[in-house]
Amino acid sequence: MDLRHSGIGMTSQRTRQRMVERLREAGIRDEVVLSAMLEVPRHLFVDEALASRAYEDVSLPIGFGQTISHPYTVARLCEIARNGRNPGRVLEVGTGCGYQAAVLSRFSREVYSVERVAPLLSRARIRLREIRCRNVRVKHADGHFGLEIVAPFDAIVMAAAATRVPDALTEQLTEGGRLVLPIGTDQQRLLVVTRTANGLQEEMLDDVNFVPLLTGLAM
Ligand code: SAH
Repeated sequence: MDLRHSGIGMTSQRTRQRMVERLREAGIRDEVVLSAMLEVPRHLFVDEALASRAYEDVSLPIGFGQTISHPYTVARLCEIARNGRNPGRVLEVGTGCGYQAAVLSRFSREVYSVERVAPLLSRARIRLREIRCRNVRVKHADGHFGLEIVAPFDAIVMAAAATRVPDALTEQLTEGGRLVLPIGTDQQRLLVVTRTANGLQEEMLDDVNFVPLLTGLAM
């Protein structure tokens, strides 16, 4: 029997329920995000050897020097991006293992996710297909440029820290759309940029810790 798919022990629905309880205690309020995280089998997005740790509040290695984000981080980014309403079209920069794209797909009409490391992207594509995330499209691209051909987006979520806000991303927001990104090098904060009829509005939120946004593609 394939234990990874059987829902036994550390990978069970109950383990996921406890993760969601901890997220609630840590201050996540958006029930739509919490129920998305209750549904998505996070253990399927990490190596089999690490599957038993998938629901701990840690970031785990996914190869190529990259990590799967903490459950809290994913919840917080999704909560800020959703801002109380389900977005239509969403762009994620930094697919990694694909977990956050899967969570976003539960409450968004369509999710586009770009990743610069080709092998990470192919694994994520397989996993997203396995769990039947039909409204997610992944693409091998440098997220600095957004995804012009399908823009505009109601929300753009970056999973890697930038040193400045890429202009292409704010240009690809709908009116009322929000870009959520970690910004800074040693000290990082979450920044929310909202496109309004009168221009861009910025708001600084939590202290965070993300891998850096890199430039160009990797094979
Ligand atoms: N969303 C993931 C987190 C991935 S970590 C999750 O669900 O856990 C951040 C990812 O951003 C890494 O996979 C890294 O390769 C990718 N990344 C860094 N710079 C990038 C860029 N310029 N364009 C696209 N992806 C980038």
